[in-house]
Amino acid sequence: MKTNLKAAWLGHSAFRIETPSGKVIYIDPFLNSNPSTPERFKNASDADYILLTHGHEDHVGDTLQMAGASGSIVVAQVELSQLLKKHGLNPDQAVEFNKGGTIHYDEFSVTLVHANHSSSFAGEYAGEAGGLVLSFDDDICFYHLGDTNIFGDLELYGELYEPHVIAVPIGDHYTMGPQEAAMCCEMLDADLAVPIHYGTFPVLSGSPEEFKSFTEEYCDTKVLIPQPGDDLFS
Ligand SMILES: [Zn+2]
Repeated sequence: MKTNLKAAWLGHSAFRIETPSGKVIYIDPFLNSNPSTPERFKNASDADYILLTHGHEDHVGDTLQMAGASGSIVVAQVELSQLLKKHGLNPDQAVEFNKGGTIHYDEFSVTLVHANHSSSFAGEYAGEAGGLVLSFDDDICFYHLGDTNIFGDLELYGELYEPHVIAVPIGDHYTMGPQEAAMCCEMLDADLAVPIHYGTFPVLSGSPEEFKSFTEEYCDTKVLIPQPGDDLFS
């Protein structure tokens, strides 16, 4: 994979992406209470951007604390953004959007797309869950599916965004399991798929090896199974 980005999977659905100029993007930074996140990634204060797929605590994670420590921008769906502000996020740091919307920053843009899931935060309804399509200037397109079940519009997203790398939940129970996730790979036709949202807790029993073997059966997408903390591209 030809890219100038660094992108570490931090366990569960969390990623830390670093751009060529050194800007740091976190997606779903559930780190401090995440049993699979390596210690060196906990209590992070280096965020420039925090991007959220939905409001559940295993995705919002340390967002409020990290945004307080770093002054980062926090990008989230409208209702979730409102709740984060209610719970202490500085309104100057909050950027809200909704499905289909794209926000452009210096080195990348982020689009909120559909996910077939629910969303709440601190016991309140937090709008709809989504996925995030990150398109880096002169570089790759990275599609984080968030928490989701399989759905037909993935075919359309494959055509529209032509993602190079996809992060796909496979853990079962709260999201789809390995076989459905492999069918998503077939629909999206990406170069590389990274399984996420498995193994963190015993109930997330979907196996990455099973995902890999189904994916190899269905399509040409390569499956990478990183260890938490590993850079996807090194
Ligand atoms: Zn989740």
